[in-house]
Amino acid sequence: MDEYTEQIRSSGRRLTRQRKLVLEILEASQEHLDADMIYDRARARDPNIGLATIYRSLGLLKEMGLVQEHRLGENHGHFETTQSTPHHHFTCLKCGRVVEFEAPQVMDAARTLCKSEGLQVTEVHLHLSGYCASCREDGFACE
Ligand SMILES: [Zn+2]
Ligand SMILES: [Zn+2]
Repeated sequence: MDEYTEQIRSSGRRLTRQRKLVLEILEASQEHLDADMIYDRARARDPNIGLATIYRSLGLLKEMGLVQEHRLGENHGHFETTQSTPHHHFTCLKCGRVVEFEAPQVMDAARTLCKSEGLQVTEVHLHLSGYCASCREDGFACE
């Protein structure tokens, strides 16, 4: 938690109890939680917490760069803490399974764009969808 506390202090914002709780829930989870799932877990530890507070905390944590929101093929966002290694997502259209993967080539492309076009890329995210190994068609083979 120390690194976060430091980041929050330097950004001039206070880490309120609720924001800390939301951050801890995201840190402890290996999944990509949406706001309702975060709310359920938060309520188990603080029965007085409201859904509006969860949304507010997520918004602020996002602004502070501690949390990222991804739209993973559904109409609501999924949240995770910002990680040092940028990664991308695959979502299974049938079972909803999310697979994370790294793609350094994408970062290379962003770097090339910076050099050739002078673009300052602030966010890189690749989202693939399709069918996971258990859901794909029988006889499917990778090309
Ligand atoms: Zn699947
Ligand atoms: Zn992820």
